[in-house]
Amino acid sequence: MGRYTGPSCKLCRREGMKLFLKGDRCYMAKCAIEQGRQAPGMHGQRRSKTSDYGTQLREKQRLRRMYGLQEAQFRLFFERASQKKGRTGETLLQMLEFRLDNICYRLGFASSRKAARQFVNHGHVLVNGRKSTIASRVLKAGDVVEVVDRPDSRELVKPFMDTAESRGIPAWLRLDKGNAKGELLHVPSREEIQPIVNEQLIVELYSK
Ligand code: SF4
Repeated sequence: MGRYTGPSCKLCRREGMKLFLKGDRCYMAKCAIEQGRQAPGMHGQRRSKTSDYGTQLREKQRLRRMYGLQEAQFRLFFERASQKKGRTGETLLQMLEFRLDNICYRLGFASSRKAARQFVNHGHVLVNGRKSTIASRVLKAGDVVEVVDRPDSRELVKPFMDTAESRGIPAWLRLDKGNAKGELLHVPSREEIQPIVNEQLIVELYSK
């Protein structure tokens, strides 16, 4: 499946908000959004009236880009969420949060979701004691994720875990920093999930 290889900050500028794609830089004054940089392109500064469709599309693009998914993959997640009981938008967010790469990012095993994906792909992570290299795997409450007990792998994550801990680990995760291990305590409620999007607009978009 193809993936976006262009500049990450350009995506944030397009969406007009921080998508946190570049690790530490996103928390610094160098961040393009902090600097108030406009959307890319000749007409980046143009303000135009947005249709309902345009608003829904932007909301979907924001969420999709935040988690680093391609359209087909995102759509698949949506379809799976819509087949589950409960509110589709909320379920979609919960499923995205429970992706293995996102869990590694939230626990501080990597500085960004993109880096977390690579970390998983390269075999540095165990789920419930077994190696797992599928970054898109959706975990469940009670699962335990840990960095393999190899000095190089453990050394790699130390500084990221310190930073993540100082920024705050979500309440639905428990981090055992000494053992580079985390447990998924419960499925997060909507209020416990950070993405600042209106997921209902995404449901409306895909329901057309
Ligand atoms: Fe987005 Fe991070 Fe770049 Fe800021 S530094 S524009 S948050 S990717």
